[in-house]
Amino acid sequence: MNPKEQHGNFSPEKDAPKYADLLQCMRCGFCLPTCPTFALTGRERSSPRGRVALARAVAEGTFEFTSAIREEAFFCLDCRACTSACPSGVRAGELMEICRTQAHQQQPQPKWQTACRDMILQKMLTDPKHLERAMLPARLYQKLGLQWLLRNSRILKLGPQWLDKATAMLPPLGQPLRQQLPELTPARGKKRGRVAFFLGCVMSLMYAEVSQQTVRILSHQGFDVLTPPAQKCCGAPHLSEGDRQTTRQLAIHNLELFLALDVDAIVTDCAGCGSALKDYEELLEDQQDTHKLQLFRNKIKDISEFLSETGLRTEELLPIEQAVTYHEPCHLCHAQGISRQPRELIRAIPGIELREMKEASWCCGSAATWGLKFDAASQQVLDRKLANIAATDADLLVTANPGCQLQLDWGIREAGMAQKVIHLTELLGRATP
Ligand code: SF4
Ligand code: SF4
Repeated sequence: MNPKEQHGNFSPEKDAPKYADLLQCMRCGFCLPTCPTFALTGRERSSPRGRVALARAVAEGTFEFTSAIREEAFFCLDCRACTSACPSGVRAGELMEICRTQAHQQQPQPKWQTACRDMILQKMLTDPKHLERAMLPARLYQKLGLQWLLRNSRILKLGPQWLDKATAMLPPLGQPLRQQLPELTPARGKKRGRVAFFLGCVMSLMYAEVSQQTVRILSHQGFDVLTPPAQKCCGAPHLSEGDRQTTRQLAIHNLELFLALDVDAIVTDCAGCGSALKDYEELLEDQQDTHKLQLFRNKIKDISEFLSETGLRTEELLPIEQAVTYHEPCHLCHAQGISRQPRELIRAIPGIELREMKEASWCCGSAATWGLKFDAASQQVLDRKLANIAATDADLLVTANPGCQLQLDWGIREAGMAQKVIHLTELLGRATP
């Protein structure tokens, strides 16, 4: 049998890990010291090697798709640190992501949970207008001071832990940026090109000022910036929850929309979105023309990658006399291999002192909804990160992904630490006249 087609106990109706990918693991164990869930538990089954072995046993039909596999598929942070360390290029995180698709079929959750999940993933997140409407109660809740009231009355402590944490993490919400950004922001000064901006859902709803800065920086650097209002979610939340089919629908929409624009690059300031957009090539390999997929893939650039490739104009940058440390988002450094570029941009700002933290590329414990589902484990992962941040004694903590920013900002506040957490383009925006 063609190893690509070996399903064993995986359901052939859903996406399943390719057997050839599972065979790549030679069980060397180089990945073990890089895995946060192995560090937490010391359990082989919670390590990349153990997870791949479980999936391989299912593919070979020697093991049923049990609740243990379901648990490990969801307990994996999909941080991809193991892939960076693996000499065979095994992608344990992505394999676990695919196993989540199987989990919904083989180990279904109660009906009400499935209905809630489908409503959020397939109705709310597939249409930016629905998502923006769904956030209105949260905006009202903040505007009326209810967030402050509930947090201070400690009523939320009586409910589930995740609700208390989610409420505390919520930054001040304003009008979604999608409704404010013009379709064309013209280049300033000598024009160098034309780019499209991919505005992520979380960036639009929770970090509007950051993405506003991103567009301003691109314009200031000499690029026309097109922001098509019809763009939709990149599909990263769906991948994370094992709904690959909806990601494919979103991918086809975004692919057609952005490829119709005459642009040099499609830039994003969200590491999670960038990683998902780059994954379209593989997700759609059986459905779309290869040339088209490669064209799209080659245009996707994280803002730091783009500015590094095109060369940052530094002559007008204003000095910032502060010490900063940099936390690497997993979906930037491990998933996209972008580590050097954000540091180069930070160092390009006059007056800045970059103080490297220990384990800068170790996960912060956010990982989409992982930090809410596994709040005790997430706190342990976060504590390790906070200790490394504190040891730098930096004034600012810079990162480049909204999930990390939410988690670190909350963690720093809860721990009573002094650092302010900012996105890379917020920092660059401060230096841009
Ligand atoms: S996943 Fe890679 S690093 Fe880990 S045991 Fe397998 S081959 Fe070795
Ligand atoms: S993706 Fe992260 S959590 Fe998952 S197995 Fe790899 S290192 Fe461990």
